[in-house]
Amino acid sequence: MKAAMLYGVKDLRVEDVEVPRVEAGEALVKVKAATTCGTDLKIFQRGYVEKVIKLPTIFGHEWAGEVVDVGEGLEWPEKGMRVRAGNSAPCLHCKMCQKGKYNLCENMIWLWGAYAEYIKVPARMVLVNMQEIPQHVSFEEAAITEPLACVLHGVEKAKVKLGDTVAIIGAGPIGLLHLLTVKKIGAGKIIIIDLVDERLNFAEKLGAGETINAGRENVVEKVRRLTDGYGADVVIEAIGLPATWEQALKLVRNGGTVLEFGGCPPGTEIKVNTELLHYGEITVLGTFHAIPLHFRKALNLMASGTINVKPLITRKIRLEDIKEAFEILSTSKTEIKITINP
Ligand SMILES: [Zn+2]
Ligand SMILES: [Zn+2]
Repeated sequence: MKAAMLYGVKDLRVEDVEVPRVEAGEALVKVKAATTCGTDLKIFQRGYVEKVIKLPTIFGHEWAGEVVDVGEGLEWPEKGMRVRAGNSAPCLHCKMCQKGKYNLCENMIWLWGAYAEYIKVPARMVLVNMQEIPQHVSFEEAAITEPLACVLHGVEKAKVKLGDTVAIIGAGPIGLLHLLTVKKIGAGKIIIIDLVDERLNFAEKLGAGETINAGRENVVEKVRRLTDGYGADVVIEAIGLPATWEQALKLVRNGGTVLEFGGCPPGTEIKVNTELLHYGEITVLGTFHAIPLHFRKALNLMASGTINVKPLITRKIRLEDIKEAFEILSTSKTEIKITINP
């Protein structure tokens, strides 16, 4: 089968590899659509922590497809079933899992291999993080279950409420998924901050009430002005840079919440003014990844039409042209997500 192997930074090659063979409890899925995301782009451009990805490996982690083979002992799924799975499966018995912190599982397995004709789903993942896709949900949409799951986790932790003013830093796919989610929850005013006008215009079409171009405007002043001097109830950082993590702290009102969502490069630190925490009683939290429940919720929200992720898919590309997809994402100001079709 054809597969896109990642060997190192910016070294992605489409090669012929053997179709994986299933063993007990595993499922083999023919990939129908895979999507690119900010995490993929980061790994492509600057590498990543070994705990999550070991190179060389078939790249890609957002996908959906059709079951073509199942290992011994599996009653579910059936061959021919439309499914999505992963990209993680907690062990359910380590200390973290026992505390319900499945996203922090000490023995988490991660599944890479979406950019290929077939993907083999490990037995544990079939059990805890694979879902059947309803007929009316496309493979492309179902592939976006993973980033939406992470966003649901973040928004739940940040406790966004009806009528809240929410400021989101970053209008990439993750910022936009936050926008779609907090809008559904009933946020009163949504302010989106980015450096690129094209992205801000797109965010407006998706329902952002106010946009700020951080390259031209004073972000802190404008957020204050838009919130009668108070700051936003909830601020979400969806970029992953120490500078914007610190900026987020300056945009929140007293008693409000800052969700630092974007992962910064390893080893980075930020400065926090203690008065903000003490006199201002702000809550600062980070969230990582999602638990299996969020994956199910994300797919259900798409299936019910509550959250429409279709506008985020901006282009379709064949697996053979995958390098082009990442080059486009590296330079383009408008591309949000690209679907890779084997
Ligand atoms: Zn992703
Ligand atoms: Zn565990």
